[in-house]
Amino acid sequence: MTQQSFGVIGLAVMGENIALNVERNGFPIAVYNRSRDKTDKFMAERAQGRNAKAAFTLEEFVGSLERPRRILIMVQAGKPVDAVIGQLKPLLDEGDIIIDGGNSWFEDTDRRTQELEPAGFRFIGMGVSGGEEGALNGPSLMPGGTQSSYQYLEPIFTKIAAQVDDGPCVTYIGPGGSGHYVKMVHNGIEYGDMQLIAEAYDLLKNAAGLDHNQLHEVFAQWNTTDELNSFLIEITANIFPYIDPDTNLPLVDLIVDSAGQKGTGRWTVQTALELGVSIPTIIAAVNGRIISSYKQERVAASKVLTGPTGKYDGDTKEFINKVRDALYCSKICSYAQGMALLSKASQTYNWNLKLGELARIWKGGCIIRAGFLNKIKNAFGENPALPNLLLAPEFKQTILDRQTAWREVLVTAAKLGIPVPAFSASLDYFDSYRRDRLPQNLTQAQRDYFGAHTYERVDKPGSFHTEWVPITEASV
Ligand code: NAP
Repeated sequence: MTQQSFGVIGLAVMGENIALNVERNGFPIAVYNRSRDKTDKFMAERAQGRNAKAAFTLEEFVGSLERPRRILIMVQAGKPVDAVIGQLKPLLDEGDIIIDGGNSWFEDTDRRTQELEPAGFRFIGMGVSGGEEGALNGPSLMPGGTQSSYQYLEPIFTKIAAQVDDGPCVTYIGPGGSGHYVKMVHNGIEYGDMQLIAEAYDLLKNAAGLDHNQLHEVFAQWNTTDELNSFLIEITANIFPYIDPDTNLPLVDLIVDSAGQKGTGRWTVQTALELGVSIPTIIAAVNGRIISSYKQERVAASKVLTGPTGKYDGDTKEFINKVRDALYCSKICSYAQGMALLSKASQTYNWNLKLGELARIWKGGCIIRAGFLNKIKNAFGENPALPNLLLAPEFKQTILDRQTAWREVLVTAAKLGIPVPAFSASLDYFDSYRRDRLPQNLTQAQRDYFGAHTYERVDKPGSFHTEWVPITEASV
């Protein structure tokens, strides 16, 4: 009996699309899902006529795969992954490869690696980006784990990944949980991009008064530019002209303005705080979603907390161009933060991440795919030790050329009472990073004053403490 080349466990959105992608690229697949109905439906519909074998027990599934077995787990992150691994383990042979392709927390991946590899199995924690469409037609793949295991997967992954001008959107990321960490930061950057686009939309709609057709035209035009051409700008342009058939109104205006945040966006913020890396734009993006979710409270507050209400009264065309410049400068700052976080994680966990290569594999397949990533790839190609993207000659020059427009947009937003938390956080990041002296000398003085925390001086080495005022015991 011929054996299948690749197994997929979990036939929800991602699993079934990746399975079809693998099969289309010439690798016969075996599939298994905990509930039988998904498997039956898959086999009866999308897998019709494909080289796909359905299994209804894990024993049958494992028995249908050639060795070393290559098994992709595509189930809900967290306990379900442990449950599936626990059921698989007794059925596998030494050298078999388990790949967790979900959005797992990277420390869980490290733990699973430590449990599985000493027992003779191979384990890969892989970030997958691109959603349903990417999974089917070419995702961006971020596999981490033992490098020797990756060689068994490379022939498949390089075929199923999105293909761009400089190769497939997959590369070996690094050991342990590094693949899942990189995917998590990718998602954090995605949060940043989405919030920045939302703020640009708010300004164009509510300050400049653009209607949905004009918004479509502006975003479609931006999508033709070297700096902003990207999947997210493209879909934004496509959203505005969509008319709701029930009401004949733009659908976007009928959608409740409350967004959730969970998993990877929140985790990116948590790990950045733990590693001491400043990522204010991404934090602003997560906060933007949190405050959006206070819908009822905001509706009530809008009736009592007044503020400016006017429109921008200057030249609309000029304003649109300034918002474009502000968006691009803010985006550079957001990526600078994400890359700095990856760099710090790489040093902390000894992952040896290649930042330019990460930018390359994000050029296609994933949600943040953009022409701009080529510039990031080149910046790290020219200087792999670049401490911050803001210092790369091209990005530095872009910001120097456009910062006046960026600042003017923020002034306009403040005057009109339009919140732009990610635009502001980005400018604050730029202004803080470029300053040789920040006001934290005062913070240090205060800490020494109330807690004897000591401070360093600019004019001589050592650690100092000052009795700022004589301390006296309170009389009772
Ligand atoms: P999902 O909704 O996250 O998970 C559903 C799948 O998990 C079903 O096949 C379900 O089986 C299975 N499952 C849940 N608990 C289980 C358990 N205890 N034992 C065995 N199977 C269990 O599916 P998804 O959206 O395809 O995502 C899969 C993974 O990819 C997730 O980690 C997700 O975060 C990640 N991801 C998703 C996207 C996306 O766009 N959706 C993009 C990138 C990454 P039953 O049918 O039996 O319930």
